[in-house]
Amino acid sequence: MAARILANDFRALWADCSADVHAAVERVGQSGWLILGNEVRAFEAAFSAASGVAHTVGCANGLDALEIALRAAGLRAGEPVVTTPLSAFATTLAIHRAGGVPVFVDVDETGLVDLALAAEALRKTSARFFVPVHLFGHCLDLDALASLARAHDTIVIEDCAQSVLATSRGRPCGSVGVAAGTSFYPTKNLGALGDGGALFTHDEGLRDRARVLRDYGQTAKYVHGELGLNSRLDELHAAILTTAMLPRLARWTARRRAIAARYASEIRHPQLRVPPSPAGSESVWHLFPLLVDGDRASFTRHLDARGVGHGVHYPQLISDQAALRDVLPTVPGKDLLPRAHLFATTELSIPIHPYLSDDEVNAVIGACNEWASG
Ligand SMILES: *Cc1c(COP(=O)(O)O)cnc(C)c1O
Repeated sequence: MAARILANDFRALWADCSADVHAAVERVGQSGWLILGNEVRAFEAAFSAASGVAHTVGCANGLDALEIALRAAGLRAGEPVVTTPLSAFATTLAIHRAGGVPVFVDVDETGLVDLALAAEALRKTSARFFVPVHLFGHCLDLDALASLARAHDTIVIEDCAQSVLATSRGRPCGSVGVAAGTSFYPTKNLGALGDGGALFTHDEGLRDRARVLRDYGQTAKYVHGELGLNSRLDELHAAILTTAMLPRLARWTARRRAIAARYASEIRHPQLRVPPSPAGSESVWHLFPLLVDGDRASFTRHLDARGVGHGVHYPQLISDQAALRDVLPTVPGKDLLPRAHLFATTELSIPIHPYLSDDEVNAVIGACNEWASG
């Protein structure tokens, strides 16, 4: 039987980039400097140039980057923060850890937060903060997001963990908010060989506050003006990202887009539908979501039998997670978040990592089209 088609192939990644990783490790070892040095600075500059956002602050992970962005932007304890229930739990966890209270609004037909509903929630709750997520590698309509921010005087912190290099009519994701957070978790479009993350911003003051917060709140050596975190990106990971990963990102993104284009045109099963992308989105296809009209469990069993990896993004809404039971003033019911619930119950993601061969892409398409849904 053929090898399983993986959702992510870290061995193929290693085969491609191990020589560059070894060179990066050697460079850091030789330098004698392991924390917050030239490698982090060089990666921050290279990542800013690649992503089109002025300043990057390397952090330990995406969760921390979002928390630091919210705190650096002035979120106060107990403030409402409008966000989406359909995301990685980290989006809401960052809001909570920064002292905010999440206010969930439904998604639209793309699976991304509905900007009209977000505007309504901002008005009703007088929330100052909004954390939208560029889910699946799509970019929200940034013209619409920018006018929402203007109209409501909203402090937008963009969650770009799935959307590195995504643009909206040529405008980079992460450039409309006051700040944005992203993740270098290994499965992400720009992944490290472990945990990593970054915040980006056009605001120098916010960048400087973020640098303080990621390093214990230290404004000068042993001087603590704030209660910060230990959330530094290692020199080692910065070097690996700069030397081995970032130079491959454009090629990886092109490959993801080519695979997405084939899936979109060649998957022709009446019960499998690709949700639309937001208007103006030049997506980077972190995931390739399908909506299954019918028995999703039967489809997953069929993919398993055909050796095709798969995932669900996400099977349980954040607002329904047990950890938030004592955090949320009220848990929004199914009737309030109908589209998000539709995604939770019908979405299924098929493999779209950049090391998929054409044969594997053919096999995924064949498996989808030959599902005998009964
Ligand atoms: C991965 C992810 C995060 C969290 O990033 P970590 O580096 O794992 O902390 C936050 N938001 C979204 C949308 C993500 O996909």
